[in-house]
Amino acid sequence: MPFPTVASPIGHYLQHLHDKFARLEDGQVATYIPELGRANPAWFGIAVATVDGQVYEVGDSRQEFTIQSISKPLVYGLALEAVGLKQVLARVGVEPSGEAFNSISLDPKTGRPLNPMINAGAIATSGLVPGSSPEERRTRLLELIGEFAARDLAMDDAVYCSERDTGHRNRAIAHLLRNFDIITGDPEDPLDLYFRQCSISVTCRDLAVMAATLAGGGVNPLSRRRVLQPQNAGRLLSVMSSCGMYDYAGECIYNVGMPAKSGVAGGLLAVLPGQLGIGIFSPPLDAKGNSVRGIRVCHDLSQDFGLHLFNSPRVVTPALKHVQSGADVRSKRLRAGAELEVLRRQGGCIRLYQLRGRLVFASLEPVIRSVLREAADCTHVIIDLAQVADLDRASCRLLLDLRDQLVRSGVRVFLTGAADNQTLRNYVVSRFDEGGWTQLCGFDSRDEALEACEEELLKRHGSKRPEPPGVPLKQQELCRGFTPGELQDLAQRLTALDLSADAEVLAAGSAADAMYFLVQGEVGIFLKPDGAAEQLISRLGPGMSFGEVALVDRAPRSATVRALSDIQILRLSFEAFDLLADEGLSHLQTKLIANLAGVLAARLRSANAEIRSLK
Ligand code: GLN
Repeated sequence: MPFPTVASPIGHYLQHLHDKFARLEDGQVATYIPELGRANPAWFGIAVATVDGQVYEVGDSRQEFTIQSISKPLVYGLALEAVGLKQVLARVGVEPSGEAFNSISLDPKTGRPLNPMINAGAIATSGLVPGSSPEERRTRLLELIGEFAARDLAMDDAVYCSERDTGHRNRAIAHLLRNFDIITGDPEDPLDLYFRQCSISVTCRDLAVMAATLAGGGVNPLSRRRVLQPQNAGRLLSVMSSCGMYDYAGECIYNVGMPAKSGVAGGLLAVLPGQLGIGIFSPPLDAKGNSVRGIRVCHDLSQDFGLHLFNSPRVVTPALKHVQSGADVRSKRLRAGAELEVLRRQGGCIRLYQLRGRLVFASLEPVIRSVLREAADCTHVIIDLAQVADLDRASCRLLLDLRDQLVRSGVRVFLTGAADNQTLRNYVVSRFDEGGWTQLCGFDSRDEALEACEEELLKRHGSKRPEPPGVPLKQQELCRGFTPGELQDLAQRLTALDLSADAEVLAAGSAADAMYFLVQGEVGIFLKPDGAAEQLISRLGPGMSFGEVALVDRAPRSATVRALSDIQILRLSFEAFDLLADEGLSHLQTKLIANLAGVLAARLRSANAEIRSLK
């Protein structure tokens, strides 16, 4: 039986809003541009798009209408990208006028329009669109606005002609701007481009996607293309929040709490930075030129979904996943004897900070506090960024400043899991140089850095792993407490093998028929989880044994063992081990098994300590 489709609570809620406000019949369809007067006052669509590209839509969400003034912030963003902040600010200000959209709000001295959301500022902004001819500028502008919607858009010729032939006030504004040299050349050119940009046909679904592009810092959630640089998206939203709704701007940001922009054809776009974009279409307008239903829907959405920008709860998840001490967690190099003892006593001087998620000031600041609180007890700090999804330049700076402070008090610091992070790399290199990057982030894996810290600790405490010629049988960890006679008996039953680096000693899944003592060199233990790449689980050095667990349970090999360097090993077949009893040497069996139990107990304890430290 097929499963019933479950309706989304979000779509369901939007339908409820639509039903609620469809009944509202206040407001008048704009007629000052004659062609707009043909709109059906009952048209009503709502769309919400998330920054990860999910679009919810109800009602007439695919009905086309002209974008009108909602083109203003978009063209402003494009002008910032094309000619840069300085040039743009020289022509258009960012002060709210608190006046109607067609007010002639120019600075009395310079003639500079107060902001780009009123017609004067918008016409000046259209004058900044680059291109060698009016056609080229027009095509370019249409393409770029299409990038915000993630589809090709077209202009509505009837509306364009209608406005061009009746837009005397806008024509007057353009000539006034020419008089002040805010626009240069023929004022009819930017004026024409302005009329054309206002006549671009969109749906309220398009508006939601455009708004989500702004919410996502300039990246279109559908095409995944960057349309604006994040700082320009931020500038656009700032000016939209203070000026986007003309003489309703103050009330809008007060009540709805989102930067928003309306157009006389009945469109409305609102943005909740970082979260979502809203597009609404309903032609009847209030006295201030904003869609009546549009404002009511925004208001309800804001209240019911808690979208008010200045009334939102903390959304930052703590960046510190856990702190571990080198006493609890070890590198993959398994150690024996004196080394193990030193790490057990001194390992606490190594601290590992596992960070995750998004690093911004508010998520990083508690990490800094926690590192500093424990710094007095540390000699080594590893900060692992492998699970960090995103970090900005500000957090790079804070991380490096933290590192400087630690280094100043003699603590060694490693940043790991950051090899692919271009932002961090650029920052470190700009602050130091390539050498600084290698020094700070030279170990990409947390495990390599941890091993380096352990080695430094061991050196400091004078217990270094023996150099070749290796660890003879009598010093092997499983032979602790053996008498010289017992060692000799055991030695007679061993086969010495020399293997070169990369040789496979044991294959996962194969039958177990022997155990090995590692005399010289290094072996790695590898696991291959289903469908994933092979992983190095641990590394063993001279004096340790492997394949010995099967001595107890005789089960097939659970992992692959491979030589990491040239190695020398001693093989004890299980057959020879079993025969010991018949040969009157069962005490050898007992001693080996007892030592093995000791080694396994120590490993189990340290695994438990590591698990506990992950709390
Ligand atoms: N094209 C319209 C005008 O300049 C745009 C105004 C608006 O949408 N508020 O009159």
